[in-house]
Amino acid sequence: MTFNDNARVGGNTAKRRGAGVAVAGGGIAGIGAIAVLLLSLFTGQDFSSLLGGGSTIPGGSQTGTEIENCETGADANERDDCRLAAASLAIDQFWADTVQDYRPPQLTIVDGQTSTQCGTASNATGPFYCPPEEGVYVDPTFFGLLRQQFGATAGPLAQLYVLAHEYGHHVQNIIGIMDRYPNDGTGPDSNGVRTELQADCFAGAWVGAMSQQVDENGTPFLQAPTDVEIRDAIDAAQIVGDDHIQQSSGGTVNPETWTHGSSEQRQQWFVTGLEQGVSACDTFAVPGSSL
Ligand SMILES: [Zn+2]
Repeated sequence: MTFNDNARVGGNTAKRRGAGVAVAGGGIAGIGAIAVLLLSLFTGQDFSSLLGGGSTIPGGSQTGTEIENCETGADANERDDCRLAAASLAIDQFWADTVQDYRPPQLTIVDGQTSTQCGTASNATGPFYCPPEEGVYVDPTFFGLLRQQFGATAGPLAQLYVLAHEYGHHVQNIIGIMDRYPNDGTGPDSNGVRTELQADCFAGAWVGAMSQQVDENGTPFLQAPTDVEIRDAIDAAQIVGDDHIQQSSGGTVNPETWTHGSSEQRQQWFVTGLEQGVSACDTFAVPGSSL
């Protein structure tokens, strides 16, 4: 996954926000940190309940600053924060072409940690979407954690799969899917799992079309992904499957507690989106047995 070096990405509206405090990495390594990370990987709409409600910090510190030196595709190829910010342009364009009256979420690159209406965002909590403020939060150092603790390569396309998954939750929010299929607990065919698998499918749909969005000069932001890069994104989907997480944290595999779906399900729905597009992503129409 490569940005075209001369693509203009300076129009992105991503913000950088945070206290600059390193909350993970060396500091809280070990079982506790892994458990926190595992619990909150790609948590999306369930994030606030996991953290027991939201907290906001008062004053103007929530506004954030622009991502600096993020003007071209070459910048996006070089740095994680600019890559995420630049990708948001392409993802927004994809959804604006797909969903009537689409409005972009606010992408925030978390620097250390920051408060949100859905709790504290940091690399230990993983990327998430906060519905009440329509915000996507990603701390890029999270990808390093994914590499260290799970052996995932967390390469560029895997990172963008994670980002696009969170944008998938935003789409679900604004088109009313979250309201139509409210949280009904856990389990392999729960609404929660269907919601997550649909976000994986939406992410795949964008990856399948990622070379089609263009900047103001008509230059595509991104080149089409290679097979190796797609493999890497599928690998990331496998790593974050509930069964894999339960196994690697030393527990038994219990489908009744699943919130996001198995490794196989997550890979399958990513590939479904990739190969067949958004229209194939109705995970709520599929019987539980073939989900
Ligand atoms: Zn999710």
